[in-house]
Amino acid sequence: MRVLVIGSGAREHALLWKLAQSRRVSQLWAAPGNPGMAALAECVPIGLNELERLADFAEQQAIELTVVGPEAPLIAGLVDVFRARGLPIFGPTQAGAMLEGSKAFAKELMETAGIPTAQHRTFRDPAAAFAYLEEHGAPVVVKADGNAAGKGAIVALDLETARTAVRQMMVERVFGSAGEVVVIEDYLQGDEIGSTALCNGTSFVPLVLTQDHKRALDNDEGLNTGGMGAYAPLPFVSAEAERAVHERIIAATLRALQEHGIAFSGVLYSNIMLTERGPMVLEHNTRFGDPETQAMMLLLAADLLDLLQAPERLASDSLWHPGYAVSLTLASGGYPGSYRTGLPIEGLAEAGRLEQVQVFHAGTALHDGKLVTAGGRVLSVAAYGTTLAEAVERAYEAARLIRFEGMHYRRDIAKRGLRALQS
Ligand code: AMP
Repeated sequence: MRVLVIGSGAREHALLWKLAQSRRVSQLWAAPGNPGMAALAECVPIGLNELERLADFAEQQAIELTVVGPEAPLIAGLVDVFRARGLPIFGPTQAGAMLEGSKAFAKELMETAGIPTAQHRTFRDPAAAFAYLEEHGAPVVVKADGNAAGKGAIVALDLETARTAVRQMMVERVFGSAGEVVVIEDYLQGDEIGSTALCNGTSFVPLVLTQDHKRALDNDEGLNTGGMGAYAPLPFVSAEAERAVHERIIAATLRALQEHGIAFSGVLYSNIMLTERGPMVLEHNTRFGDPETQAMMLLLAADLLDLLQAPERLASDSLWHPGYAVSLTLASGGYPGSYRTGLPIEGLAEAGRLEQVQVFHAGTALHDGKLVTAGGRVLSVAAYGTTLAEAVERAYEAARLIRFEGMHYRRDIAKRGLRALQS
């Protein structure tokens, strides 16, 4: 099969790496891709928002499946464009991607359907939002309604932080139009996990649960980022909690969408807090997680193309290798704030020679034939181990071999999982 992957991050590199191992894949393309993906696929310089050009390309090359990595083209309606032209594509339509594209829509859908999530209020008027904060008090979480690249949620433990967040989003518009509407929700406590399901209308296949690390610094300090690392499976989640995720969250969300006339297909990735009252949804995404996917792809035993095309045909006990996988983000100095680019990257060949390690590219570029940094999240090191400790050790061993000026990464990836295994 001829397969096109859309995106240019480490998530797409990992998907491509796994697709390249499929018996059924004959040729791979990536749009726009990155230097790491170029080793596995032909990269075509078409941007994520060039919907018609992407469809033209898929048609010309007789692409038999297009796999979309990032949310932006889904929210913009790429799947609708492809479907209207009879081109096979994996992902939700624009209506389905609203679940990620509008937090207000997602919250309202969950509330009406009784899906467990934090209490919330939606505001279009800053004065009303400020008044609500005074009345409600802290802690709260202030979220930009639109898509703000994973950085639009501010956990405010005190009122001043909450007021600042509302002012920045609604008045100063730091996230542009994404902050026109703001959701303020109650603060939830517990272990935060990620649930990924491959969906086809109301049926779904749940994938392994993951945990990511959103904050920039160790011990969950610093600002929220796109994700600094992840691991799977999770040794601290009970079978009962996992069942509740499947029934009360995934199945219930698909049913609620169906009632809105939306047959949701593609990935439903939910950020979930395991609270004392059971699992509660923090946020729904309608694509694979990044950096969760990088760990998942190392753990996946099944053929990814089979999994995307007909997940229900695969036996659930044949999906995963035993053991654990982790991913670790190597970021530019200053990320998620401002950072320099164009800095030479070294040590990739050495790191790539380690067993059970894959280095996926995110923000990299080739400059005069040399690999340089080109983004906030530069590389994602993924490692597999028969134990979690082994997977973690391998990822850090690889990270220590890689160098670029200002490089930083978290030193405590999978700490929660390691602690659970020790007790
Ligand atoms: P979101 O973009 O909605 O996933 O939020 C980003 C991060 O903010 C999440 O990964 C959580 O760590 C945190 N967060 C979001 N909503 C809540 C909440 N209601 N209570 C506590 N933390 C939250």
